[in-house]
Amino acid sequence: MNLVFLGSPASGKGTQAELVAKKLNLQYFEAGDILREIAKEKTSLGQEVDRIMNQEGELLPDEIVNQVVSQWLAKTEARRGIVFDGYPRKLSQYQALRRMLTEKNTKVDKVIFLKVSQETSIRRISSRRVCPKCDGEYNLVTEKPKKDELCDQCQVGLVQREDDKPEVVKKRLEVYQQITQPLVDHIRQQKILMEVDGERPIEEIHQDVMERLKP
Ligand code: AMP
Repeated sequence: MNLVFLGSPASGKGTQAELVAKKLNLQYFEAGDILREIAKEKTSLGQEVDRIMNQEGELLPDEIVNQVVSQWLAKTEARRGIVFDGYPRKLSQYQALRRMLTEKNTKVDKVIFLKVSQETSIRRISSRRVCPKCDGEYNLVTEKPKKDELCDQCQVGLVQREDDKPEVVKKRLEVYQQITQPLVDHIRQQKILMEVDGERPIEEIHQDVMERLKP
């Protein structure tokens, strides 16, 4: 079974996608994390990715993202299926993914759309912190570190994600409204969209998704 998780920034799609992947023993493709690793590289590609993603808050060009996906698919054994988190984010990427999966004699089975208000997105982003060493994620309100603002594992000071800074967040929310929301509307017409209320506690959402994925 191949699943796609869609939602605005900080809708909880990453959290839910990972839980479902673990529960169903599916491979997990996390677009943002793979791209953040590329952004750290001191190559011209790394610099381009860093600028677009972390400073401008825009989507990366399809050529870059589709290639990342295609290379990941080529090296990943995914007999039970894949959970895609953060990809596709626009119609052209959705079409590219469908083509890539068709070549592997498989398809997108369900798209899970986590619905949260813009106020919730902004509130969650402003309290999100990450560890610069292990990339562990915290929330200063809902998933607090044990001590001050230090990573529980590394004891290193937590920081805000580059693209969670207010000026970049504003752009990311606009991009979501203008580019990703139309993809949600397109998939709704194809009848494989599962709309989920993302304003509830993590475990409650997870149970709901699992229940609705049952055949
Ligand atoms: P995320 O961690 O999923 O919120 O992604 C962070 C950033 O990575 C986005 O704001 C984009 O700049 C970039 N990115 C992630 N996924 C994609 C994608 N499918 N297409 C283009 N850019 C992406």
